[in-house]
Amino acid sequence: MAKWVYLFKEGNADMKNLLGGKGANLAEMTNLGLPIPQGFTVTTEACTDYYDKGKQISDEIKGQIFDALKVLEEQQGKEFGNVDDPLLVSVRSGARASMPGMMDTILNLGLNDESVEGFAKKTGNARFAYDSYRRFIQMFSDVVMEVSKSKFEKVLEGIKEAKGVHDDTDLDADDLKDVIVKFKDLYKKELGTDFPQNPVDQLMEAVKAVFRSWDNPRAIVYRRMNDIPGNWGTAVSVQAMVFGNMGNTSGTGVAFTRNPSTGEKGIFGEYLINAQGEDVVAGIRTPQPITQLEKDLPECFAEFMKIANKLEEHYKDMQDMEFTIQEGRLFFLQTRNGKRTAHAAIHIACDLVDEGKIDEKTAVLRIDAKALDQLLHPTFDTEALKAGKVLGSALPASPGAAAGRVYFTAEDAKNHNDAGERVILVRKETSPEDIEGMSAAEGILTVRGGMTSHAAVVARGMGTACVSGCGEIKIDEADKYFELGGEVIKEGDYISLDGSTGDIYLGDIQTTEASISGNFHRLMDWADKYRKLKVRTNADTPSDAENAIKLGAEGIGLCRTEHMFFEPERIPKIRRMILSKTVEDREEALNELIPYQKGDFKAIYEVMEGHPVTIRFLDPPLHEFLPTEEEDIIALAEDMGITPEEVKETCESLHEFNPMMGHRGCRLAVTYPEIAKMQTRAVMEAAIEVNAEKGLNIVPEIMIPLVGERKELKFVKDIVVETAETVKQEKGSDIKYMIGTMIEIPRAALLADEIAAEAEFFSFGTNDLTQMTFGFSRDDAGKFLDAYYKNKIYESDPFARLDQSGVGQLVQIAVERGRKGRPEIKLGICGEHGGDPSSVEFCHQVGLDYVSCSPFRVPIARLAAAQAAIKQADAKK
Ligand code: ADP
Ligand code: MG
Ligand code: MG
Repeated sequence: MAKWVYLFKEGNADMKNLLGGKGANLAEMTNLGLPIPQGFTVTTEACTDYYDKGKQISDEIKGQIFDALKVLEEQQGKEFGNVDDPLLVSVRSGARASMPGMMDTILNLGLNDESVEGFAKKTGNARFAYDSYRRFIQMFSDVVMEVSKSKFEKVLEGIKEAKGVHDDTDLDADDLKDVIVKFKDLYKKELGTDFPQNPVDQLMEAVKAVFRSWDNPRAIVYRRMNDIPGNWGTAVSVQAMVFGNMGNTSGTGVAFTRNPSTGEKGIFGEYLINAQGEDVVAGIRTPQPITQLEKDLPECFAEFMKIANKLEEHYKDMQDMEFTIQEGRLFFLQTRNGKRTAHAAIHIACDLVDEGKIDEKTAVLRIDAKALDQLLHPTFDTEALKAGKVLGSALPASPGAAAGRVYFTAEDAKNHNDAGERVILVRKETSPEDIEGMSAAEGILTVRGGMTSHAAVVARGMGTACVSGCGEIKIDEADKYFELGGEVIKEGDYISLDGSTGDIYLGDIQTTEASISGNFHRLMDWADKYRKLKVRTNADTPSDAENAIKLGAEGIGLCRTEHMFFEPERIPKIRRMILSKTVEDREEALNELIPYQKGDFKAIYEVMEGHPVTIRFLDPPLHEFLPTEEEDIIALAEDMGITPEEVKETCESLHEFNPMMGHRGCRLAVTYPEIAKMQTRAVMEAAIEVNAEKGLNIVPEIMIPLVGERKELKFVKDIVVETAETVKQEKGSDIKYMIGTMIEIPRAALLADEIAAEAEFFSFGTNDLTQMTFGFSRDDAGKFLDAYYKNKIYESDPFARLDQSGVGQLVQIAVERGRKGRPEIKLGICGEHGGDPSSVEFCHQVGLDYVSCSPFRVPIARLAAAQAAIKQADAKK
């Protein structure tokens, strides 16, 4: 027979998968001999079984729950459901990883109309007994039956008002009896049945509610954001009650062994006298700092400190503890490794190393790589934020806090920024033409587009805060205003954005600059010591590249060349190139572009000081460069000596039904070899010149995008080689160069051995590879992904977290076959996934040489790569 239920004394801290974090730690603390109210834990497997059985708790599980309850009754010397002296329990949820959004705890379960009288008599404290019962009714109704807590609070408020008192503690036994009658009426009115009187029913309903809460919408969203699989399930702990609401020598509180926001050493916490459970965090009464306990109940405080230190010593990490004092007796109800800010996490990890409690590797494993984002971007001043009004919320597309005046076009944003204003660019969605306005902005807000929309990708690259996909906004770009959260925001008005949470605020909220401490560098040095993967960056401009180098990038894995063409002097030339009718005209236009492109490459090579730079040749469909505004069309027509109608006609002829799968990537070079020639010349001349000027030894890496066939790559490669050799001869240079390709079409992955015969390196373009493998475009995925999450078809966004089973398999195949075709082939990844920790771990496992990600994600990738290497080494032991 399977074991579904464990007494606390049967478990330990290593059983988190089975008992959940809370249950495992309650067991561990029991074994340490700490004062823990006893109880038992129903396993996460029982939760999974509940779902497997069509949301039924099997008789076997029920039986084991009752057996454990028997043992608990014996331990406590009380009977569950006894009317004179009832055993009361709490029912608590706990998954492997602590998960806000899961079910709230139910306290005082086991009381009913009859036993509350016995309980009053037995404890000699009627006020306390009725207070416990009214709390139970409220919690059970809210948590199990989903009748909103606020309805009960309103009743309670009414009674307090009628009596003219402010605090719950000012209500006496008779008042509370009255509360109970009114609560039960409310229950019946809302649900049509009486409040359940049978304690066994109460218990089983509560257990089921915990299981159900695993799948509530809040929990599902939290899991998706934190990479928690849906099949883990939650455990349920049932524990004998202790009471903090028995009078002035009782109380309840929470405390951390170190400060969770700064990381500073020293006890940090709060407690409330004569209170139960969540009163401390509910904000009904103002709690006392934990140090006050030393004055109120010195012996309790001394014992509390002793246990707190013991727990930190035992777990070798900062602890977050919950405790209750019942008539001067201290009980611990929970301990766990405390959540902390990234800043505190690093501070604590370094301190623990210095205190000799953990080693460097453990310190590296302790930091949540994703959270490093917090350190690299401005945040809002906490006090100022409290006063801010939230207008709405959307996707947290690029982290950081930003405040400024609203402008609706890239041009306005740039001009006002040039004039010294802080600006926020608000657009329906952004396009490559908006680049300058985006880089001028403190923050970007879009109405449409997901986490991998143009705005999101570019903003992350620049380290600019971005909130995307705010569908609630009603925007009028022509008249320059938008409506959100009941406010009308006009051009020039201040708003503030939190790109880490997605919140949008009214007004100019003060921000605090990012600051990287010495501890950060210490931790990063440790990470660099253990990682095997190299970390490069995706950078298109010298300033992006410079940023990335500061954050530890070891090269550029993806330098896109298309963004270089959007500047005002350049775009007319590329448009002329596109509209040219003859090769000669096209070459002429391209020749005019060479100096610009060469200048860009030189500037990037200079910043990179000899680190490798992979330059990708032109990739997007040409129509992205074409004019849409009437005045641009007229200007272009004049420039080319043709009529505006002719321009429009040609533009229309370039229309594509599905640009993502259209005339783009290496197909451009196959149809217009002149483009590849021009780009090759620019790359080679830039490298030769910088090598001479700076005494460097740059080996240009030229990357041909969107290849699906060996001959296709060979065709473009021949053009590149021919041009490169010509340039070498012209300049009398013997510079080396490499030619490689992106793997972003499934066919290329499957035929990687053939393709490797022509390619010296592969870079996995996992954005396109994901689109092509799933068969949907990332720009349209936002329209249906939510329904996929809701119906549990997908657990996470495949554009944010690499789909290891599908897309990952293609990567693996390409790695194996690529190495077969060319054993020394260099392998990297340059999709957005290169900065996602779980995807970085995958890259480590399949044996890539490097990951490349946006500059501000470089530290995340360095840390994630180290964690992957340490975990793999540990697993081998
Ligand atoms: P959460 O996971 O939200 O922290 P908990 O299960 O820890 O929920 O319960 C919240 C609070 O309820 C605890 O901090 C504690 O104050 C109170 N509580 C839970 N179980 C008991 C118990 N057996 N006796 C007394 N108080 C309890
Ligand atoms: Mg808790
Ligand atoms: Mg691509």
